[in-house]
Amino acid sequence: MKLQEYHAKALLQAAGLPVPPWQVATSAAQARAQAEAAFGTGAARVVVKAQVLVGGRGKAGGVKLAATPAEAEAAAAAILGMAIKGITVRRVLVAAAADIAHEYYLAATLDRAAQRVLVMGSAEGGVEIEEVAATRPEAILRVYAHPHLGLLDFQARQLAFGLGLGGPHLRDAVAVAQGLVRCLMANDADLVEVNPLGLVRSTGPAGEAVTTLECLDAKVTLDDSALTRHPGLEALRDLDEEDPTDAQARAEGISFIKLDGDIGCIVNGAGLAMTTMDLVKLYGGAPANFLDIGGGARADQVAAAMRLILDDPGVRAILVNIFGGITRGDEVARGLVEARAQQHREVPMVVRIVGTNAAEAAAILQAAAFQTAGSLDEAARKAVAAACEVSAGR
Ligand code: GDP
Ligand code: MN
Repeated sequence: MKLQEYHAKALLQAAGLPVPPWQVATSAAQARAQAEAAFGTGAARVVVKAQVLVGGRGKAGGVKLAATPAEAEAAAAAILGMAIKGITVRRVLVAAAADIAHEYYLAATLDRAAQRVLVMGSAEGGVEIEEVAATRPEAILRVYAHPHLGLLDFQARQLAFGLGLGGPHLRDAVAVAQGLVRCLMANDADLVEVNPLGLVRSTGPAGEAVTTLECLDAKVTLDDSALTRHPGLEALRDLDEEDPTDAQARAEGISFIKLDGDIGCIVNGAGLAMTTMDLVKLYGGAPANFLDIGGGARADQVAAAMRLILDDPGVRAILVNIFGGITRGDEVARGLVEARAQQHREVPMVVRIVGTNAAEAAAILQAAAFQTAGSLDEAARKAVAAACEVSAGR
């Protein structure tokens, strides 16, 4: 689950990281009022930023600086309602603009292959870090945090020196790097990224020039599977930007991942779903989705799975592969009959049900004239053939 910048910044702040104050507006008038407040506290400019769950907002015109309340209002009016990578902007973040001396990149992320938290830093932040990673990988520093102790002091110091943040900024840089890891672990996040981490100019209490490190942008991705451990975080999900199919699948307790192929798969169990997809591929087909209806699936869940699959106009055949254990074959068969009665378009379907109550299931399917298969190989072959016929007929 991806978080909006303003939610991500709240998590960073809670972890003790330096984030300049911000507000969120849903109208240009509200943005103007917030800008007036920021100018009132001495800001020379404010920044108005689109809140959408995609990167590269700056390049897309979704980040604007304003020197007066009227300019801030105009910037917000321009950004609200704008589409960035196909997503309509509904909110803007308003903050006093930082006077940036340099932009760094710093992030903590889960490296699944290494089974460690990886901390990445670069002195070339701000621009698209993917480009730096692709063209000059040596410009990105990498260090693995300790699984229990987090990013150790010496590791954080090495990273800071590597970024050129020794001297007066060493302590702050160490605190930010360690804070990112703490924030990632505390929230079971997959990614906590700050780009840019700004070296920001300001005026100290005696009128002297000072520079401090500040998190000017924040990107956090949470591990969906760990959300049960953080009851408060589920509320941060942005339903406006979520794919409706994903939202439906989650509501029904179905694991669903859309793919590019044309054979919809309804399977119980993640391992069996992977195997089913492998066999579809083996026989020359392409799965339209990964779908696990889970253990003990009921008839209504089977019907919901069918709806999810048929909502994808690219689906030309459906393969149902159920291994009855806790899941009862007759219950699934009834769900299929019910779903077919409700479905809004007809596609060929091949059903294989074995295990608990397989005989009852077979009787129900036969009575309803479903195409069945005795083995998974046979089912996959038939589904691929059916999908080919449909495409040839079009
Ligand atoms: P992104 O493009 O979606 O990653 O959005 P960012 O928040 O990273 O903003 C993009 C760029 O806008 C940054 O790299 C900065 O150069 C600039 N920017 C963002 N906030 C400020 C700010 O407070 N002051 C100034 N001067 N520039 C900013
Ligand atoms: Mn950014």
